[in-house]
Amino acid sequence: MKNKTILVTGGAGFIGSHLCKKLLEDGYRVISMDNLITGNMANVKRLKDNKNFLFIRHDITKKFSEKIKKELSDLAYILDLACPASPVDFPRYPLEIMEVCFNGTKNLLELAREYKVPFLQTSTSEVYGDPEIHPQPESYWGHANPYGPRSCYDEGKRSAEALIYTYKNTYKVDTKIIRIFNTYGPQMRPDDGRVVSNFIVQAITGTYITVYGDGKQTRSFCYVSDMVGGIIAMMKSREEGPFNIGNPGEFTILELAQKVIKLTGTKSKIIFKPLPKDDPKQRKPIITLAKKKLGWSPKVSLDEGLEKTLEFFKNNL
Ligand code: UDP
Repeated sequence: MKNKTILVTGGAGFIGSHLCKKLLEDGYRVISMDNLITGNMANVKRLKDNKNFLFIRHDITKKFSEKIKKELSDLAYILDLACPASPVDFPRYPLEIMEVCFNGTKNLLELAREYKVPFLQTSTSEVYGDPEIHPQPESYWGHANPYGPRSCYDEGKRSAEALIYTYKNTYKVDTKIIRIFNTYGPQMRPDDGRVVSNFIVQAITGTYITVYGDGKQTRSFCYVSDMVGGIIAMMKSREEGPFNIGNPGEFTILELAQKVIKLTGTKSKIIFKPLPKDDPKQRKPIITLAKKKLGWSPKVSLDEGLEKTLEFFKNNL
């Protein structure tokens, strides 16, 4: 597959750009595609000197022009990471999120069909909604609110999985699904809105550390290099999934706040703010399938990952 092109949609985003970088290091040709509504040109600029890299600004909900199709002539794989994914994006871009999840995924599946190439979808732990089963196995159907502030994303991503199932069975497209759990690391935007970047930026700038609710809700945080490793392991496998990819180390949000305070030595104090509606109370992946079928498991501890992320924000704020 080397010397052939891998299309990474959402390639200017946080995980997408790390993935492009690793694929280039591994010797692949990479086309990064992004409409830049939440993607970041700084992530693209890091890569643009590599002769095997091309950035195309395009909204995947729109038709692919003949010019774009020409660039894709030796396409070997589609990795779909295109979707705003931070809860602060849900009220900002609800229609864009629903459109990219359904129409964007459909356009990519059509492309996979036309070019006869495999398609990998990055789905999400949000398909489990506010889970009543803990930790979450892939066999759990979830507990998502179809009519609420998170539904554009949760139901959007669930509809994308259903669409992929349909294309696989109707048109025999070679599809794969992974479900990404909370991921963090360098290159997150300072205003990303997610908890790790918020806490680190607040600690560095000496503002209040904003804990929503009582801080007893839990998340399991995966460092971005582990996530990229999981995506590539799935890409190289013959598996279809869905597989959870995440780090099962589970922490309360208060524990995370305390870790960040200790690590940074900040004088910032914790302030409690209202819990957003439908905020999941607990989340932790069961990763037995990914371990067994992909030979993948996360390596970076939360302490180690937080240190690297802190270093990035110290140098880039
Ligand atoms: N959260 C918080 N303070 C913040 C941002 C988030 O307490 O400044 C909480 C949020 O309510 C949730 C958890 O941290 O319970 C993880 O939120 P995030 O937005 O990172 O991702 P989610 O897992 O909710 O998609």
